[in-house]
Order: sequence, then C-alpha cells, then structure tokens
Amino acid sequence: MTASRDEDHGEPALTDGSPLTTGAGMKRKPKNNGIRIVKSCISVFEVEIDLGRFTSVKTNELNGFPAKLLRMFPALRKHECYAGEAGGFALELRKGTDLAHVMEHLTLELLKCAARPRREFSGWTRRRGRRHIIHFQTPDGSMGHCAVVNARMIVEGIIDGKRMDTKAIIQSIRDSKEVVRCKQEQVS
Ligand SMILES: [Zn+2]
Repeated sequence: MTASRDEDHGEPALTDGSPLTTGAGMKRKPKNNGIRIVKSCISVFEVEIDLGRFTSVKTNELNGFPAKLLRMFPALRKHECYAGEAGGFALELRKGTDLAHVMEHLTLELLKCAARPRREFSGWTRRRGRRHIIHFQTPDGSMGHCAVVNARMIVEGIIDGKRMDTKAIIQSIRDSKEVVRCKQEQVS
C-alpha cells in the first residue's frame, strides 16, 4: 500500500467538464476541445520482482530489520499504508510484511527525496505466484528504475549488515533524471 492514499492512476481529463458517462452515452468519446498534453511530470511504473530466497520471508522474521530500516529512513515512520494514518507502515513492519512491500515504500521514499520539486508518490504491491508486482508513480522512467534497484539493494544490504550512504544513493537517483531527452525536446 501507499504512502499517500491516492489510487487514481487514470489518464488526465481531456473534457471541458461535461460528463462522459451519462446513461446511454456510456461509450461516448471525449470531444476535441482544443486541449493537448504537451508535458506530463508523472509516470507510472510496474515492475515484477523475484525475491529469490526472500520470497516468503516476513519482516518480523528478520532480526532487527524493522528498527534498522526505520533508523536509516526515519520518514518511513510517517507512511500511512493500510491504516490510513501516519505510523501505518511501521505497524506493518512490526507485524510482519513481505520485502516487496518494503521495497515499494522505500522506492516511494527515495523518489520523494530525489524529486525536484519534492513531492509525494503513491503505489501498491501484490503477489503473483512466486513473484511480486510493485506499481508506483515516478517523475520519469530512469528515476523510477534507479529507485527500485536501489530499494532492493538497501533491503538486501540491511539484511547482510552492510553500511550504506543514503545521501549518495538519493543523489544518484536525482542524477538519473532524463535530462538528455528533455534538452533534445527543448531544442526541437
Ligand atoms: Zn503499504
């Protein structure tokens, strides 16, 4: 579940405010009202993850994991998750949740810290067989990919007792922003 409770991942509205779904008019397409999208700052990523030896491991089964994670990223204490209020995710950590769910919250937190301007992102996680699906918002594809890769590295690093530089990790995600493509678009 998410840091924020925003579940709306639909396309931006293109209408002039008139309803699209009224009785028999359910299939009516939006009319061309002179609006076209020239810039979109949010992407949605969905990744499938094989956690290997950690597929069925819960956070409460890993000695000291919740405390180490929250010490490294104190802002995770504010994530709401299923409870819908600050502290919800910390509660799930203590009760025992899977590591893909941890990676989702960590990805969202890393993106919040790396994004300029800073902002909240949302996402969800579900299990599909032996794998997990993590669905999350991101400023762009490169930052999203970099954040989820680092989230996995951090989770495994905590379990293995490695020391990690969180500021350097956040900076690497910020630096991965798709600036090259943006510059090309400005020139053209
Ligand atoms: Zn959650």
